[in-house]
Amino acid sequence: MPANELTHFIGGKHEAGTSGRFGDVYQPMTGEIIARVPLASTDELRAAVKVAKAAQIDWANTNPQRRARVFMRFVDLLNTHMDELAELLAREHGKTIPDAKGDVQRGLEVAEFAIGIPHLLKGEYTENAGPGIDIYSMRQPLGVVAGITPFNFPAMIPLWKAAPAIACGNAFILKPSERDPTVPLRLAELFQEAGLPDGVFNVVNGDKEAVDAILDDPEIAAVGFVGSSDIAQYVYSRGATTGKRVQAFGGAKNHMIVMPDADMDQAVDALIGASFGSAGERCMAISVAVPVGEQAASQLRERLVPRIESLKVGPSTSLDADFGPLVTKAHLERVKGYVTTGIDEGAELVVDGREFSMQGYENGFYMGGCLFDRVTPDMRIYREEIFGPVLSMVRAADYNEAINLANSHEYANGVAIFTRDGDAARDFASKVEVGMVGINVPIPVPLAYYTFGGWRRSGFGDLNQHGPDAIRFYTRTKTVTSRWPSGIKDGAQFEIPVMK
Ligand code: NAD
Repeated sequence: MPANELTHFIGGKHEAGTSGRFGDVYQPMTGEIIARVPLASTDELRAAVKVAKAAQIDWANTNPQRRARVFMRFVDLLNTHMDELAELLAREHGKTIPDAKGDVQRGLEVAEFAIGIPHLLKGEYTENAGPGIDIYSMRQPLGVVAGITPFNFPAMIPLWKAAPAIACGNAFILKPSERDPTVPLRLAELFQEAGLPDGVFNVVNGDKEAVDAILDDPEIAAVGFVGSSDIAQYVYSRGATTGKRVQAFGGAKNHMIVMPDADMDQAVDALIGASFGSAGERCMAISVAVPVGEQAASQLRERLVPRIESLKVGPSTSLDADFGPLVTKAHLERVKGYVTTGIDEGAELVVDGREFSMQGYENGFYMGGCLFDRVTPDMRIYREEIFGPVLSMVRAADYNEAINLANSHEYANGVAIFTRDGDAARDFASKVEVGMVGINVPIPVPLAYYTFGGWRRSGFGDLNQHGPDAIRFYTRTKTVTSRWPSGIKDGAQFEIPVMK
């Protein structure tokens, strides 16, 4: 048994798990089990909700400026602890330390955005909407809300959810991925150090049982989920049956269209980073390259092959690795299984990284980059999300065929076009049916003050994450119509009131 037994964080304290169920936490770099994480029972989840509910009342009554000040201190603490957080994150996830810093940084930026939330919480006011009548609206927090997050961004995605929710006056229950729970627990400690009252941010570790308990709990008003699409759809439907607000973001298959006039060197640099960074375990990774025309296809392939063959795979602690190991052995096997499927389906495997072994780390979960050419839309390796360092090339005869590919795929998270033609780029931005679009930008993740979300099976629900949508999601609007009669006597009125 590993020495490191993790906890929950509830009401400002680390709480040992009492369900008797635990999950193993691996260090992908070495393949060792480095901790075990308690998997909460329904009763443990309910107890955490009670604590959050009690804390939320005072927190909602704390003025918005004071709530924002907690985030100012929290941002400072994230900066101070950046190295430590990145190291913890890389240890359990497997991504490289510079990439792990980016994970923390993108979460930090949403905490910075939360500092300005008092401005966005302001309501509307209409004076003299009728005789002696004023109308105003206000945004009020929902109460206790929950976030259920994936393994691939254990700092950023919990903060996408928690920072706006808390700044709006809600109390928050985070159910992070059971594969890398240490950073979320550390975030809870830093929130406390920043002055967040106990019980406003809680971490309940767990698996399906904790998720179901969240979805069924009548005291939880809203759930924000990020993970794979089948689970996202399940969370969306089950949460809605108990009347919650639910936003559930799912998987992806992001296309990068390379037009014949694109700067090929720039396009290849972009593709290499966006497809293989973080071992492809990003929902905004490019997994499909779509060269338009045979000439673009052969130029792209010619340049990609040596770059993929020379990718530096290394342990997360290596400062010059391009990417590290995958998150677990099971996931590594799944990704390799897709490569076998691709061969069986008739795609041409141009670069095969399956046999890669990391010297000195033979039990780690490594594989090298893979490239498939002549992938077709009917193949499983095209239709399904692989979530590993595997890039597929689908050749398109022309621009219309390329955009139709992106528009017909069941996933619609991100997409990019590389071109020098302004007309083509403008047409693409307007007509492509995908949530986030890059023009000569391979990973168009919007900044914290914009919103993030995919279309079709990449996102269930009607508001995006962070940015102004987060304020709409984590508050509800109350509209007050008031009159101070001062002498107006209109007697009983039986018709619907209208302003004449
Ligand atoms: P996952 O779906 O396995 O897990 C996500 C969360 O759901 C975890 O907290 C997990 O404990 C929980 N969960 C897992 N199985 C469950 C079940 N049967 N019932 C209830 N809950 C369950 O996803 P993952 O492997 O951790 O993360 C990778 C996925 O997340 C990829 O599909 C990726 O594209 C997606 N993702 C999407 C976005 C986005 O914003 N669209 C961002 C990051 C990751």
